[in-house]
Amino acid sequence: MKLTILGTSCMVPTKERNVSSHYLDYKGEGILFDCGEGTQRQMNIGGLNRHKIKKIFLTHWHGDHVSGLIGLIQTIGNKEEAHVLDIFGPKETKKRISSLIESCDFQKKVEIKIKEANPRGLEKIYENKDYFVEVINLYHSIPTIGYRFVEKDKIKIRISKLKREGVKEGPHIKRLQEGKDMIYKGKTYKNKDYTSVIKGKIFSYVPDTAYGPNCVKIAENADILLCESTFAHSLSEKAKETKHITSREAAQIASQANAKKLILTHFSQRYTEIKEVLDDAKDIFPNTEAGFDFMKVVF
Ligand SMILES: [Zn+2]
Ligand SMILES: [Zn+2]
Repeated sequence: MKLTILGTSCMVPTKERNVSSHYLDYKGEGILFDCGEGTQRQMNIGGLNRHKIKKIFLTHWHGDHVSGLIGLIQTIGNKEEAHVLDIFGPKETKKRISSLIESCDFQKKVEIKIKEANPRGLEKIYENKDYFVEVINLYHSIPTIGYRFVEKDKIKIRISKLKREGVKEGPHIKRLQEGKDMIYKGKTYKNKDYTSVIKGKIFSYVPDTAYGPNCVKIAENADILLCESTFAHSLSEKAKETKHITSREAAQIASQANAKKLILTHFSQRYTEIKEVLDDAKDIFPNTEAGFDFMKVVF
């Protein structure tokens, strides 16, 4: 899968950084995490096709995370083909989307399905055969949820071993794919001896929040942890006041969650140079990078 970061500024766009939105390409399906103002244009510049977007996961209803929604929905609806858009978000998402739709006059060709999350712990909000998405409540100034995109493990059949033992390919092999033992010409082939597991990848997104245990839960074992870090440690009091985390706290979350790689985002516009923010995190979690607009991460 490939993640394209479309905005890394907090609250307002700057010349170098747009506000929050992130495009995850999973086998050609477009999955958007947040949709700040200017998302469409960022997608144009980033070479992404908005008509591929099938799901949008919203973290909270602050403008810098949702203001691009109405324009995006409108443009997706300009095409003749029917388009179904699944939108997920915290409580009140249904009410707010319907207000948005009412705010503009356009042909409603996009069928929008909305699912609100009000999780008590870590909860699954979506699942298909390839992946599932979990949510958890975070600690921001309004209802805010973090997300965890989990690719399912895959069973790989050891075809060459089977061939060496005289087994021909055919529908009988399906049983191994399903995790069961296979019987071929009267002989039992144990699943564990003829398959191996390819671990699925995990992408976690911790958006605007104060520090707390749920930040770690949603980030557990993430291959890529995208985490807000509005402030450097020197402004930790300001971070507490505004219910944000510092880059040092982001690094602590990555470390406690056993994440493999941390990408920082949602920087206060006071930082024209991101070095202080990045260095604070790297002291604790060395495999950290500062996100930038149009950064692409393949994993
Ligand atoms: Zn924000
Ligand atoms: Zn916010």
